[in-house]
Amino acid sequence: MADSALMNTYARLDVAFDRGEGAWLMASDGRRFLDFAAGIGVNGLGHAHPALVAALTAQAGRLWHCSNNYRIPGQEAVARTLTDHSFAQTVFFCNSGAEALEAALKLARYTQKKRGQPERWRTITFEGAFHGRTLATVTAGGQPKYVNGFEPLVDGFDRARFNDLASVEAAIGPQTAAILLEPVMGEGGIRVAEAGFLRGLRTLCDRHGLLLLLDEVQTGIGRTGRLFAHEWAFDAPGLRPDIVAVAKGLGGGFPVGACLAAGDAAHAFAPGAHGTTFGGNPLAMAVAGAVLEQVLAPGFLEQVRQTGALLERRLSNLQAAFPTLMTGVRGIGLMRGLHLTIPPADLVRAAFAEGLLLVGAGDNVVRLLPPLIIGQTEVEAAMDKLFTALSTLMRVTSPLPARV
Ligand SMILES: *Cc1c(COP(=O)(O)O)cnc(C)c1O
Repeated sequence: MADSALMNTYARLDVAFDRGEGAWLMASDGRRFLDFAAGIGVNGLGHAHPALVAALTAQAGRLWHCSNNYRIPGQEAVARTLTDHSFAQTVFFCNSGAEALEAALKLARYTQKKRGQPERWRTITFEGAFHGRTLATVTAGGQPKYVNGFEPLVDGFDRARFNDLASVEAAIGPQTAAILLEPVMGEGGIRVAEAGFLRGLRTLCDRHGLLLLLDEVQTGIGRTGRLFAHEWAFDAPGLRPDIVAVAKGLGGGFPVGACLAAGDAAHAFAPGAHGTTFGGNPLAMAVAGAVLEQVLAPGFLEQVRQTGALLERRLSNLQAAFPTLMTGVRGIGLMRGLHLTIPPADLVRAAFAEGLLLVGAGDNVVRLLPPLIIGQTEVEAAMDKLFTALSTLMRVTSPLPARV
């Protein structure tokens, strides 16, 4: 790649895909891969889903883009679907996860100013978090590998420890406006926020007049078996976030993000306060509407929960078979992580050689983020490939374990 005209921002595996179907990807050299990466949790409905192809092509023949200077009926429809099925009352559309987080962070400050508390402008975030690659969102995430070289960073972020309510309470000061976290850390290694921790944060926010911001860019739109991951913890009246960012799964592969809000945050912005050229254009809205129609269809999320439970059982069996390589299985629904004793990249490469796509993460974890449409057949096929990959890695030092 030394002669590439691309900036050197990714350590890419040497493959190029030119076709996809369901949970499978076909490479230009004829290789076939079972896709348990799904574009990092993006292709929730798999590849070339007929309903998404139909929605996109029908809209492509009518109108692509018209700017937010005009009414966009698709936005109004998708926003209504999202608010009908969530805590939220209003939605702002953008193009990516980082932009959805930028909107959420700006909205939190803006809401505090409208409350008459302009001194509250700082946000508490968590060690190991990932919120995107803009200057504000790398600062919010705070991980050295993403901020080094980009200093000076954006001011206004304080750090607490995940699942440690006391550390959050200690970080709250007179300037705190909001608390921001992922209900399940993705990039950070599939670390699940405990239900008691999330409810405790709600209580802290109520007590101190703070806004609770959730980054559901990776967990949202069915990934954990609920439309939003926070529904697992916020299952009673009064328990809700104030602002939620989504993106990845919302477009099923078409770039789209959204910032959802409730309470006074839902109505804080006025014309001119925030905006975007491309956000929520008719093409994006046609696809997002079709994605939500599938994910909200009766039985879809129940199927995700069942397949997720099966995947967890199979992964636990694998862990029992390879205890020296795999030390834990984490996650909810179809967002799973394998905690390893070897570098995650080694397993990603070994699985790739067997025709299985996985994603690395922090905290020595490999992520499994398959399309939400998979069933038992794909789970068993993935487990066979994983077994072979782990066996290859074992063979270096130890005899093979018994077949699971
Ligand atoms: C991917 C991701 C982002 C950033 O989304 P982009 O679309 O890459 O900007 C933010 N937060 C979380 C939790 C993510 O997984």
